Amino acid sequence: MIEKLKTLARMQKFDDEIGRCRELQKVLPKQLHTLIQDVEQASAKVQETQNVKDGILKRQKDMEGEIKHNNELKLKYGNQLADIKTNKEYKALNAEISNLTQKNSDIESSLIELMETEAEISRQLAAYNAELSAAEKRKSDKEDDLRQQIDALDGKIEELRKQRTQLALGLKNDVLVKQYGTLIKNKNNQAVAFNHNGACSGCGFIIRPQIRIELEQRKKIHNCESCGRLLMNKFQNGELNPQEVSESAEA
Ligand SMILES: [Zn+2]
Repeated sequence: MIEKLKTLARMQKFDDEIGRCRELQKVLPKQLHTLIQDVEQASAKVQETQNVKDGILKRQKDMEGEIKHNNELKLKYGNQLADIKTNKEYKALNAEISNLTQKNSDIESSLIELMETEAEISRQLAAYNAELSAAEKRKSDKEDDLRQQIDALDGKIEELRKQRTQLALGLKNDVLVKQYGTLIKNKNNQAVAFNHNGACSGCGFIIRPQIRIELEQRKKIHNCESCGRLLMNKFQNGELNPQEVSESAEA
């Protein structure tokens, strides 16, 4: 009987490992997705900010062109002043020149504001570029490894299943194997529960003193009276060594 109990405990170890693999099958693709998404989002931020900066630079250039054009006009009007005959025309042209001076002064004020904005955008852009580089580095560091891990999981689960089935065959007890399988399916991947300080490790139900004594004796298969899991006292790690597997087949 003790070998049967050991075999069940070993089977549960394989199912624990299968459970961990299944968890990884959920978690790892999410991690991979996050790596890729981080790069995409950082890249989009860089592009967006670069577009804003380009727009500002273009406006700066337009404004500088306008100032240059106004200065040329001022020079031209200034030269024309010498040839003016009437006082009225002289006044009008002078007004035009001071109008242009005012215009340029306004444009220069806007230009200074724009340059400050441009400096701020450039700082942002540098920060976003740093974020992008960091995201790209994380991706290149981890992507291949993650993909390999994800690809390997199916095979690993298959291998663990085979080993567990091998153990189940050794039990030579169809009812017990079937019960184990049903519990794995219905009890959150845990068919075997252990006496944990007098309570079922699966559901926390307090084990009756008489049952506790029987668990010590390891002479029969017990089910938890609350959750129905196969209940036993925990084996020490060494007691479940793989080399004992073949012996358990004979038990
Ligand atoms: Zn229980």
